Amino acid sequence: MPRSGTDRNLRLQGCGGHQGLKKYLAAIGPRTQGSAEPQGEPEEAHSASSGQAERVELPVGSNTTIVGLKNAVLKGGSLQVRNATNVIIRNLDVRDAYDCFPVWQPNTGGLGDWKTAYDTIWLSGASHVWVDHVTLSDKGHPDAEEPTCFARNYLRHDGLLDITNGSDLVTVSWSRFADHDKAMLIGSSDTASGDRGRLRVTLHHNQFESVVQRAPRVRFGQVHLYNNRYVVPSDDYRYSIGVSTESALYAENNAFHTPGHIEVADLVKSWNGSAFHQTGTLFNGYPVDLVAVYNAYNSGSERDLTEDVGWTPTLHTKIDSAETADREVARGAGAGRLP
Ligand code: CA
Repeated sequence: MPRSGTDRNLRLQGCGGHQGLKKYLAAIGPRTQGSAEPQGEPEEAHSASSGQAERVELPVGSNTTIVGLKNAVLKGGSLQVRNATNVIIRNLDVRDAYDCFPVWQPNTGGLGDWKTAYDTIWLSGASHVWVDHVTLSDKGHPDAEEPTCFARNYLRHDGLLDITNGSDLVTVSWSRFADHDKAMLIGSSDTASGDRGRLRVTLHHNQFESVVQRAPRVRFGQVHLYNNRYVVPSDDYRYSIGVSTESALYAENNAFHTPGHIEVADLVKSWNGSAFHQTGTLFNGYPVDLVAVYNAYNSGSERDLTEDVGWTPTLHTKIDSAETADREVARGAGAGRLP
């Protein structure tokens, strides 16, 4: 390995194959990232990642329209709409926003977990944004093939499309979210009260395919979720729709396809949130009531979900039946499928 400076060394270690991975993990291990303040090598490792940021982060400014040409692929980059307005992104395949330097967070989720830096698309403080006919995935670099480190899957990717920090008036349509762990986070923290009254998002005619969780997970936002198609993976599935702090999800005519061992009650998860309105859901072709099933199944262990979300969506075009949407989305969602 070349010795041309700490930054370069650590960067190579972080993305330097098996030996590099071992050194990086030794540098940021639980002993240094746990109770003690990180110092020395780990800090250098993290500062080395700033060089990575220059390569990965692709800022998108206000009043910008990006439309992919035929077969356009953006690989290894993170499109970031930060504090910008009036942005359209269409017809792009964005994949593998890979992080060479995941950070171990010992206090996450009880067992600790890996925190990675990049979403394939990140909307932060963004307003009036339309994302349409994009395909977002880890294609070529699935987290499932990463090793287990500190008893957790060594994740390399964060969200496929995260919408945070007071973003507002966002529509995501006719897009494909595929082969990924955390698909879409709307609202990044229970304490981000600046998100209150914002994070108004419409998600329609999207396909969530082999996604482990967050399709989406919502805090604070008023989210209209209609005519989406879910193809739930067999392995490592956690949930699809996450109901969290002060969220107000209004779901209509969505279709789920699941393997045999996934139950209706598995599709929704709530933490510190309970407002979830749903109608017209299809589960493997059969109509189901997600709220009634969730409440019956989790009776006694979780707070009941309530159908009163305090608002009714009005800003939308025609809403299809779940059956029609299921067929149309399978055929028409994603990059390369503009009508
Ligand atoms: Ca993120």
